Amino acid sequence: MLGQVDDLKEVLIPADKIQARIKELGKEISRDYQGRNLLMVGILKGAAIFLADLALTITIPASFDFMAVSSYGAATKSSGAVRILKDIDQPMDGRDVLLVEDIVDTGLTLNYLYENFKARNPRSLKICTLLDKKERRQVQVPVDYCGFCIPNEFVVGYGLDYREGYRNLPLIGILKPEIYTENSSK
Ligand code: 5GP
Repeated sequence: MLGQVDDLKEVLIPADKIQARIKELGKEISRDYQGRNLLMVGILKGAAIFLADLALTITIPASFDFMAVSSYGAATKSSGAVRILKDIDQPMDGRDVLLVEDIVDTGLTLNYLYENFKARNPRSLKICTLLDKKERRQVQVPVDYCGFCIPNEFVVGYGLDYREGYRNLPLIGILKPEIYTENSSK
């Protein structure tokens, strides 16, 4: 069954390091948004755990919401266009919006969401991502807060999945290659 810690080739970021870094990010964000009206928007499902832990470290008044997106077929992949399956429940205009993502890879998805959010006239818009695979970037996106820069490896855990498994691991790990090959035909 998919989802075991034994399926990992390597633990890239242990749980205590993730939590320590999130505390630092929370401090920085709380300082930067002092006296402001912060709205954190997480992208489901990957960013759900990160947003929840991050929100608990924010010491200024803040609200949060989630958006669910799915990518279109292969034809629109290169544009990063996504279908919004669930939108947020509150307007963004006049709010200080922080877009919270699990990982930035090519940057296509985030670039699309960033432009979509900007068109809703927030007072300010910043991006916070737990992980960044910088060498994979195809479009530049303005990442304001980043937990960890990671190498070009497919990672799972702490909200990130492979076939819906591994999201509940408290750490970030790299899967053993045989997990993909054994499951690629299923
Ligand atoms: P981008 O549009 O930046 O290429 O893709 C971002 C999305 O791809 C992320 O939100 C995530 O869903 C998925 N993704 C990219 N890299 C990884 C990875 O290493 N592990 C997992 N589980 N998902 C990834």
